[in-house]
Amino acid sequence: MQEPVWKNRSREERIRFYEQSRPQNIRQKKQKRQVKRLRQAASVLMVIAAFFAGIAVGKGCSGGNTVIAAEREAMAEAFFQEEAAKKRSTSDLQKTETVDTTELPDYVDEQYLTVNPYSRPGKKTDTIQAVVIHYLANPGTTAQQNRDYFEELSKGEDGVSISSNFVIGLEGEVIACVPPGEVAYASNNRNSDTVSIENCHPDVTGKFNPATYESLVKLTGWLCCKYQLDPLNGGVIRHYEVTGKICPKYFVENEESWQAFLQDVQDWIDTH
Ligand SMILES: [Zn+2]
Repeated sequence: MQEPVWKNRSREERIRFYEQSRPQNIRQKKQKRQVKRLRQAASVLMVIAAFFAGIAVGKGCSGGNTVIAAEREAMAEAFFQEEAAKKRSTSDLQKTETVDTTELPDYVDEQYLTVNPYSRPGKKTDTIQAVVIHYLANPGTTAQQNRDYFEELSKGEDGVSISSNFVIGLEGEVIACVPPGEVAYASNNRNSDTVSIENCHPDVTGKFNPATYESLVKLTGWLCCKYQLDPLNGGVIRHYEVTGKICPKYFVENEESWQAFLQDVQDWIDTH
């Protein structure tokens, strides 16, 4: 603030200079700079997260959707709005949970996921048109591990959305993750009118062992009865029929085994 320069300034300039020099204005500027830096850092992190999410989905079989930053924000927003709406009126979750869960067979272990935007959106399906069969593309993993992975996604840290209504394990155990009649993220554009079954398998061939196969026939047959589906006429499909994905691998690569499976489901229905 040298005298000659200062003296030459107009009154307006002096006022502006004075305003800019006020401690609170300097503080505001500093805060604005900090906010800007934080925003920049956040957007870089979002880009990195979206990149890794893309890799994760590319590896899986489940046909989940990669949720990139903007979509993720929109989904989170929708989720919170939904939560708020639930508080205002009767709980949607309670409504959906009363649809089907009471009638599941005894052998089904109900371990429902927390309602969240990434693996259990808490939405009712339309009328069920088919059961979709999947394989997990993750040899040797258990039903419990895969169910817990879906639950882990609820934190949104990976930005990945994958799930399944049911997972059948290597011992033939059946875990229900999302009630049938509620949307799970397994079958792409058919999530809203199908029930999904993911299956564990011991090796890279993707062939189900006898215990898994037996439970799969039993559960698929039961679902066909429940939703009045004809397994031999489009009521039971592979993920392959939805997107062309090689899933479930063994049934896609061995058409005769797939047809035999459909017949086994029909036989189960005929005898129950
Ligand atoms: Zn699949």
